[in-house]
Amino acid sequence: MSFALKNSKQNGIYFYARFLLKGGGNLSVFKDLWWYFKLEKSNYLMGIAMFVAICLLQAIPPYGVRMVLDTIAKNTITTKDLTYWSLIILASGLLTYGLGFYRRVKLFASANRLSKLLRNRLYDHFTKMSPQFFHKYRTGDLMARSTNDVQAVSLTAGEGVLTLADSIIQGGLVILIMAFFIDWKLTAVSLLPMPVLALLTTKYGRLLHRRFHDAQKAFSSMNDRVQENISGIRVVKSFGKEEAEKKQFEQIVENVVHKNIAVARINALFDPTMMFIVMSSFFLAVAFGSTEVLHGSLSIGELTQFILYLGLLIWPMLAFGWLFNIVERGRVSYHRIENLLQTEPPIREKPDALITVPSGAIHFHIPTFHYPDIESAALKEIDIHVEKGETLGIVGKIGSGKTTLLRLLLREFESKQVNISIGGVPIRDFKLFALREAISYVSQDPILFSATIAENMALGKPEATQDEIESAAKVACIHEDILNFKDGYNTTIGEQGVTLSGGQRQRLSIARALLQDSEILILDDSLSAVDTRTEHAILQSLRENRKNKTTLISAHRLSSVEKAHQIIVLEEGKVKASGTHHELIQQNEWYKQMVDRQQLESLILEGGGMSI
Ligand code: ADP
Repeated sequence: MSFALKNSKQNGIYFYARFLLKGGGNLSVFKDLWWYFKLEKSNYLMGIAMFVAICLLQAIPPYGVRMVLDTIAKNTITTKDLTYWSLIILASGLLTYGLGFYRRVKLFASANRLSKLLRNRLYDHFTKMSPQFFHKYRTGDLMARSTNDVQAVSLTAGEGVLTLADSIIQGGLVILIMAFFIDWKLTAVSLLPMPVLALLTTKYGRLLHRRFHDAQKAFSSMNDRVQENISGIRVVKSFGKEEAEKKQFEQIVENVVHKNIAVARINALFDPTMMFIVMSSFFLAVAFGSTEVLHGSLSIGELTQFILYLGLLIWPMLAFGWLFNIVERGRVSYHRIENLLQTEPPIREKPDALITVPSGAIHFHIPTFHYPDIESAALKEIDIHVEKGETLGIVGKIGSGKTTLLRLLLREFESKQVNISIGGVPIRDFKLFALREAISYVSQDPILFSATIAENMALGKPEATQDEIESAAKVACIHEDILNFKDGYNTTIGEQGVTLSGGQRQRLSIARALLQDSEILILDDSLSAVDTRTEHAILQSLRENRKNKTTLISAHRLSSVEKAHQIIVLEEGKVKASGTHHELIQQNEWYKQMVDRQQLESLILEGGGMSI
């Protein structure tokens, strides 16, 4: 027997070991997941201990059969022996049943906890990412990674570990028992087909990796397409592009099917290959074993036991093929998830950043600001000071840098050349949550959720009372509109509820921002869809309700800023002129022309009885 080990290079164990090692590259996902196995150490150890117990238990029935057969062959069998061995076989079967159930529960519970952990990590990561990140990875892709890929990784941590343990522990133990307790020569001969298996599985594994990667990519783009089509359905319909979109979608789905069939083809190769190799082993065992029986070096009971053990190897072999499949998917998916998690948030907080909410005068000092990878500067030579409680108006043509200036204050982007302070403290010295707590931002095209109007308004202040919600709605001139809806403040917005006009959406999000009662309110062209009369009313109530608080209003329509303490005119990222409304009418030609033109437009619109 020691000879068998010394010369193990010549026998099946060696090949089996090599086979395992060959797959080592593919099994690297277990190394990637090591941190998790450590976290769930006790559960995994318990699961593996069960495996060993189950394998030892499974080795008992063939031994019982051998004993019975050998005593039958010698004609010395008694009823007592027969009952004894039958009961032993039954008992080990029952114990295997119970332990098998328990180990699966243990491992699958751990695997499910991994998907929970990964999903939460991804979600947490998404909330830290900049708009560029969401530009680079489209929604459908991100959803595919948070669902399909997480599932594939969790399958690796559950089913994958189970099959790995099955292949190694059950396979290894059975081979050892065969070699040590029955016949090492027979074992070596029977396991001869193993190297072929190793070769083929490695080849299939490689192919599978590539094909599964393509399939997941195709799934991601299909997801993107569905998401874009659903959110852009109105555009699709208004351009009459339904048929064209349907055709394109059919092609994309066809591609997904095609790629998945390519994966399935490789999958389909695994099982028959395994079966063929296992059957070849059976053939060799029977052929070589029966000659040994004939020569008297092996009893008939021992050969039967050996063949039963060989039968026990079928599952570990199949498991190994299955393992490659799962592990390949897990590896691809884990890397897809890792890629996302490794994207550094563009804005990093200082470790000792302040948690106090900033307050005071705002100062912008921006010699120049470029968007990443863009050569021309979006802002140049900016020096603006806004006292606490003042209103700053920012006007200029589209693309002149209004939104950029406001986004820099929100710290959505930053660079060394951007120096913005609040109350004399640079904004980069604050924790992001503290900075954003000081600011309420309303964009031109606000996002509302499929929830009730009241819930949408209370987004930034979930504990707001109904009275607070209503008074914010009154300031934003949306209260009357809400009362006209069937369920008032409890009316659901979105797919299952009412559809709001552009102006109503803007006013609702102004109310949402007002409810937060922040130090700084930013209206980024967020009155553009509101008629001039309502705009005046909103601005008037804002002035009354936000005394001593700072408001920044960027607008295309100059009437939005005419009462501001200070207005700046941006042109190609530079401050072209600044002053009050009256000063600018006198000093700045562009401003004067725009005022005249917009007054005329509003006269025509209102004269025609139009309102938005
Ligand atoms: P405004 O709000 O006045 O319409 P923006 O601040 O949106 O102007 O844009 C100023 C300039 O910066 C424009 O030239 C625009 O193309 C560019 N820009 C805006 N956002 C980005 C971005 N995320 N990446 C690159 N360039 C951008």
